[in-house]
Amino acid sequence: MFVKLAALAMLLWLNAAEAGVSISSTRIWPAQDYTRLTIESKQSIRHNLFTINNPDRLVVDLEDVDINDTLNQLTGKIGADDPYIRSLRIGRFKPGIVRLVFDLKAEVKPQLFDLKPVGEYAYRMVLDIYPVHPVDPMMALLESAASSPQITEPVATATHIDVPQSAPVVAAPKPGPNGIPEMRARTLIIAIDAGHGGEDPGAHGRRGTHEKDVTLAIARKVKALVDDTPNMRGVLIRDGDYFIPLGGRVVKARKANADLFVSIHADAFIKPNARGSSVFALSEHGATSTAARWLAKKENEADLIGGVNLDIKDPYLARTLLDLSQTATINDSMKLAKYVLGELSNINDLHRGHVEQAGFAVLKSPDIPSILVETAFISNPDEESRLNDSAYQDKLAQAVLGGIKRYFAQNPALSKPKLAQTN
Ligand SMILES: [Zn+2]
Repeated sequence: MFVKLAALAMLLWLNAAEAGVSISSTRIWPAQDYTRLTIESKQSIRHNLFTINNPDRLVVDLEDVDINDTLNQLTGKIGADDPYIRSLRIGRFKPGIVRLVFDLKAEVKPQLFDLKPVGEYAYRMVLDIYPVHPVDPMMALLESAASSPQITEPVATATHIDVPQSAPVVAAPKPGPNGIPEMRARTLIIAIDAGHGGEDPGAHGRRGTHEKDVTLAIARKVKALVDDTPNMRGVLIRDGDYFIPLGGRVVKARKANADLFVSIHADAFIKPNARGSSVFALSEHGATSTAARWLAKKENEADLIGGVNLDIKDPYLARTLLDLSQTATINDSMKLAKYVLGELSNINDLHRGHVEQAGFAVLKSPDIPSILVETAFISNPDEESRLNDSAYQDKLAQAVLGGIKRYFAQNPALSKPKLAQTN
């Protein structure tokens, strides 16, 4: 009797399970830029989004979805420190409709969209919750710089860069109100981009290290070193475990008025003995090698894995419409890349002895010299453990800073006018 009942219960359960789409995974990526919520399933989910004011709430209705543990666990994944979501309730609203109600901390601009299976992911329904008033990186920078005396100190006392062939790090003299050149040290802004993040973990090591984690750890160390350098300030393009589209990284660097852009990555290859550091710059006319083209293709897939809403007008389109030659910027990028590669050669083998070029989307700032540093191979067990080693991360960060210092020391003409902001 008991066995029969159990079998019947099993049958009913199976029928119920077949009735709706089963959620296989839920993830949440809270960040100051935006909070992303991902619901993954074997089939796509039909959904409807609307907002309610007083108090601010977001409602997402899911059609023909089972309420299972995976879905229910989402409520517990909302952290108290989430910038935008206060809490989440999940329940069956009516037959065939499961309702998610988000209580919000502020007025938000939500985007709900679907992603088709890619990489290791099945279908994804993505809810991006953006602030109505976004955090402006330049304002944040000015606020943090306001307490720093470096920004207005005269060059005679402020500038010292510890490089033998040191040249003063100054803006070219600009005529003051009375025609006398104003010699002031300009704070150089270094945009530091931790590759990947959030839904896009990047490459994996054999012991389970994610590229996105080591790139963020190294990027934070570079920023600390840059901030400790007179007349320099670091801006982290990504400062947490969330995804930023490649074009968005370029826009953030330009909004921060960056003088340089350094994207930090870790390489991977099928053969575990591949090793060494490399540095890349953008190419306007094809890659300098098959390997470089392959790597750029792999890095550019970040947008597919990380997930970009293709339904909205591309906010980064304006930038590509500039259609300006990037030759001068690429020449500067090559100089920077060579200095950084030279510094890296002191602490690691080089994967190749020279800088290579390819069409990396993240390096496409028309007016900011930009490089991509593959710090080491995360797929090489030795290099994976070094990438996880804080002391080695320090060395990598020092090498990047060393290259930046050499670049500025040998290229004092730093104040070339910037293109007008397009965003
Ligand atoms: Zn990468």
